Amino acid sequence: MSNFDFDLFVIGAGSGGVRASRIAASHGARVAVAEEHRVGGTCVIRGCVPKKLLVYGAHFAEDLKDARQFGWDVPDCKFDWDRLRDNVLAEVTRLEGLYGQTLENHKVTVFKTRATVVGPQKVRLADGQEISAERILIATGGWPHVPEFPGSEHAITSNEVFHLEKLPKRVVIAGGGYIANEFAGIFNEFGSKVTIVNRGDTILRGYDEQIRDRLLQISMTKGIEFRFNAPFQSIERNDDGSLTVNLENCDAIQADAVLVAAGRVPNSKGLGLEEAGVELDEHGAIKVDERNQSSVPSIFAVGDVTNRIQLTPVAIREGQAFADTFFGNKPTLVDYANVPSAVFSHPPIGAVGMTEAEARNKLGSIRVYTSDFRAMKNVLAGRNERALYKMVVNAATDQVVGLHMIGPDAPEILQAAAIAVKAGLTKADFDNTVALHPSMAEELVLLK
Ligand code: NDP
Repeated sequence: MSNFDFDLFVIGAGSGGVRASRIAASHGARVAVAEEHRVGGTCVIRGCVPKKLLVYGAHFAEDLKDARQFGWDVPDCKFDWDRLRDNVLAEVTRLEGLYGQTLENHKVTVFKTRATVVGPQKVRLADGQEISAERILIATGGWPHVPEFPGSEHAITSNEVFHLEKLPKRVVIAGGGYIANEFAGIFNEFGSKVTIVNRGDTILRGYDEQIRDRLLQISMTKGIEFRFNAPFQSIERNDDGSLTVNLENCDAIQADAVLVAAGRVPNSKGLGLEEAGVELDEHGAIKVDERNQSSVPSIFAVGDVTNRIQLTPVAIREGQAFADTFFGNKPTLVDYANVPSAVFSHPPIGAVGMTEAEARNKLGSIRVYTSDFRAMKNVLAGRNERALYKMVVNAATDQVVGLHMIGPDAPEILQAAAIAVKAGLTKADFDNTVALHPSMAEELVLLK
């Protein structure tokens, strides 16, 4: 038994912090976690989970329309934002309870308050109480970045979007990344007029160009408008409560809500980290080594606050690896190669591995296979929306080094296919697999 109050003190009960806490506790450590907002963190409370539920809710707009072609008499339907919002928020509260229960079951002490670091092995709670711990883990995640411009206080971020009192008739979304494209799809399906405003000329930088172009084309067909190379100048509140968004290089846009989705920054401010000697990078991310250890040997960090890959499953892996390494006598490193990702746009995108451009740069000689098709369901529905699957192969080894997909259920299909890419399977291995017919996924083993 050490002389410290706890073996591990975790700041932040999000995906990474909760996983690290419960695994360390299951290895026999005495663990405490402090959370100033709600247990569950960004993913559960104001991110992936409520977003995905809104995506499901939004998709009914198309399903109800398409149902007529499948023989269903569908009366004119009306969407009720209040009901969906309240149901989603109730589900979030249920999940928050389950996360709290998990911590309790593992005998983790939870402090529902802010904690800051006051020394290499000491934290202070908001009420002044000081607690010692052999190791401290910072898992405080990230926070939406709002660029500075006059009137930025009139904009909302992904933190507030789930709580909107009413559905805005006109929405302007700043940014062209994950959140912008996901919420553009959601609001558009609910009937709002959506305009995405981007400072550059590309959406979803980092994704394969052909896939991005396909989303752009489908989004425009669905009625989403885009303004490129149009940085925000200001937002003004009008007398009737509406907003005027002034842009560089473009006419002003009238809106009822402005959502800023311009990336997320590490949540490292005011935690006493620099005073304790913890090194941060130029974006405020905690610098850690491959074992998640900071420049102070007793202080560690996992998840978005380290700004490696800002994805929930990555934070969870990091939390698990940290706990196994330092409390389970099982040294574990996270493998960051071939992490699959998805954009839950309408239609969604799934991707793993290198884009065509990356593979060309890195490998030189590659082969690219594509399937550009209309899903059977879309054909009968009369929905002119084509899916695109793309496989990038190392020509020298026949190994599949990238898969990129846009179309119905693409993330669901991609998750399974990512196993093959991670395992280093070849195009011949895909070809040797008999197709499952009729499915969309069979395109992956029929690429010519
Ligand atoms: P992204 O990094 O995806 O996109 C940010 C967008 O904002 C880009 O278009 C970027 O333009 C633009 N931008 C950045 N800085 C500025 C600025 N100062 N002024 C104007 N525009 C700017 O961020 P999101 O906010 O959409 O999402 C945050 C993170 O959350 C994502 O990176 C992702 O890791 C995670 N996330 C994951 C999801 C998923 O897995 N499905 C869903 C939602 C979020 P440019 O391209 O020019 O840099």
